[in-house]
Amino acid sequence: MRFAGKGPRLALPEAARLLLPAGRTPVWLRQVHGRTVLAARAGCAGEGDAVVSRDGRHALVVATADCVPVLLAGDGVIAAAHAGWRGIAAGVVAATVARMAVPGASIVAWIGPAIGPCCYEVGEDVAARVVAASAPDVARPGPRGRPHLDLPAAVARQLASAGVRRVRRLDDCTRCRPERWWSYRREGRGAGRNLALICRAAGGSEG
Ligand SMILES: [Zn+2]
Repeated sequence: MRFAGKGPRLALPEAARLLLPAGRTPVWLRQVHGRTVLAARAGCAGEGDAVVSRDGRHALVVATADCVPVLLAGDGVIAAAHAGWRGIAAGVVAATVARMAVPGASIVAWIGPAIGPCCYEVGEDVAARVVAASAPDVARPGPRGRPHLDLPAAVARQLASAGVRRVRRLDDCTRCRPERWWSYRREGRGAGRNLALICRAAGGSEG
């Protein structure tokens, strides 16, 4: 399990190979802010926002720049999901857990760097959709009167609802930490991407 932020600007496959242990095959997605969960295959697994693998050689990679990267490991299965507000509202987290096909209690999840409630001002419509998909307390009024959303908290609530109790959160706001993470809200279209990677360690546990 690894969250990698600012470094040299490289194409995703090249960056993944540099970050992964030798012998691991990177698997990535053409992310579209939906709830489609794909079965892993080497290289680009297709258009979707989560991927699941039972192949010990696979390393799953999602790319983000404010959205929430979620990495999961269960009994013999790993998964990675890209969850922005649209994916959270669409239910990508629950869909990923369901596709892992193991009890939620056996799953460990990591919530990586994402834009925090300090910085994520949104419209009332967006806040309402994420609240409806998670819990009321993930939105609160910001200093300018518009709601601020806590996307990592929304993901945590969805994981809990899916039976995943062991959740570790980085709670590092991408927009507040320019030295460490890329942020779409801060850098706009020129933003690079943060990578979240998960693969099985040689001993069989996630690493
Ligand atoms: Zn912030």
